[in-house]
Amino acid sequence: MNPISQVPERDSVDPHTCRSFYIDGRWTSPAHPASMPVVNPATELVVGEIATGSAEDVDRAVVAARAAFSGWSTSPVALRVGILDRIHQLILERKEAFAQTLSLEMGAAIGFARAMQVPLAAEHVRVARDLLASYRFRTVENGTAIVREPIGVCALITPWNWPLYQITAKVAPALAAGCTVILKPSELSPLSALLFAQLVHDAGLPPGVFNLVNGSGPEVGDALARHPDIDMISITGSNRAGALVAQAAAQSVKRVTQELGGKSPNILLPDADFAKVVPLGVMAAFRNVGQSCSAPTRMIVPRDRLAEVEALAAQTANAIVVGDPASEETVLGPLANEAQFKRVQTMIDAGIREGARLICGGPGRVAAFSKGFYVRPTVFSDVESLMRIAQEEIFGPVLCIIPYDTVDDAVRIANSTSYGLSAHVQAQDLDAARAVASRIRAGQVHLNHPAWDPHAPFGGYKRSGNGREYGVYGLEEYFETKAIIGFG
Ligand code: NAD
Repeated sequence: MNPISQVPERDSVDPHTCRSFYIDGRWTSPAHPASMPVVNPATELVVGEIATGSAEDVDRAVVAARAAFSGWSTSPVALRVGILDRIHQLILERKEAFAQTLSLEMGAAIGFARAMQVPLAAEHVRVARDLLASYRFRTVENGTAIVREPIGVCALITPWNWPLYQITAKVAPALAAGCTVILKPSELSPLSALLFAQLVHDAGLPPGVFNLVNGSGPEVGDALARHPDIDMISITGSNRAGALVAQAAAQSVKRVTQELGGKSPNILLPDADFAKVVPLGVMAAFRNVGQSCSAPTRMIVPRDRLAEVEALAAQTANAIVVGDPASEETVLGPLANEAQFKRVQTMIDAGIREGARLICGGPGRVAAFSKGFYVRPTVFSDVESLMRIAQEEIFGPVLCIIPYDTVDDAVRIANSTSYGLSAHVQAQDLDAARAVASRIRAGQVHLNHPAWDPHAPFGGYKRSGNGREYGVYGLEEYFETKAIIGFG
């Protein structure tokens, strides 16, 4: 069975190819027949059907991953580097198939899928390959050797918003470290994961090193979290799911890493170049239709510059082309699923009810469409820090402009949510920006919209999670540390 030959064409996923799991190096049927549809959010039509697994499928995958661990964890670094290199090359070779599939399963605009979703996913593999090639697994200090060893069998649970990117951000460092893995992708966007499973097979990964079981969080995700023979679980998703995973994992004392929600601030200091940074800030908040946990959705601006910011923000938001994700002109496609559409509508209504001032967008579907989960890019101004729209993650193209009176006030507002994933500061005076960055409780702070750095550790303070992904920090999450004292 070869899903890759069948999935790429738009609106033509073969339902049969989706009804298998990848366990122990081959496509295999689930223990019990159960399935769920995959819906294209642009048309609301069913475009595939995936098998949904059970605890029995998880058991089979764990047995395979455990059996493969001794060989993979002690394999020569050069072998692992070679396989990661092949995975990287194959993602680039199959870029178009991935882009089409991502667009189909979660509505990514095709240009965005080609330019961002796929290449950035490939970057995580390249970075893991490069780090592995020169990583020092053993250092000796004062006669004591410190050895980094792979933690073991890892369960990896990923969300629907950046499906392939979230997969490679976990799978690549885990494989580089020498771990074996069981991936459970989001049940809402599982098709690119099937392509990825075929790709790792084609890259020559030994059987059992990578396994994929599809299914729901409460069934397959929970079985993974509880499983006594899994050493670590890494989840990216909502705070709700992250907390449930930690609870379920507690009994078996496995390592838990969580990449959860965000409500990221974007502070504009008075000397910033507003004509430049306001449009960039709006586009950063709305990237991927606002479905990014690190989206800077709270623009915190000097009160005496509010009118200027509003005009620039409205002009930028009104110019965004929302449309069919298959069109090259489209900047924002639909939201990824119906539940997300309803959630965003609820939050826009909440903003209006709480008295925030709508300066563009608003409730309802984009007028040009009678179907599809298309939301209007929406900007609220005069938002107060305690409003729901300023506190809760919306995960849609909804920007809150919040005025401040002093820089201390701006920092207080920036730190006033339960999240701490990411933040932005804009200023021409870099020292002033750095000083503000040092006062923000978040895992990443971006000064003046820098280029993406795939080596920069990513993860949350406060309720945004535990642990870090990307670069060497992400790799080291998959190690145990052993001290051999008296090593000589
Ligand atoms: P979700 O929490 O519903 O699902 C995420 C994953 O967790 C899915 O694979 C799901 O099946 C699984 N899951 C759900 N319940 C589970 C349970 N009880 N046990 C085990 N697994 C379970 O989230 P979503 O709707 O897919 O994604 C949106 C949310 O994820 C947003 O809140 C967003 O901020 C967050 N997110 C965070 C990051 C990050 O890096 N911090 C990245 C993307 C998304």
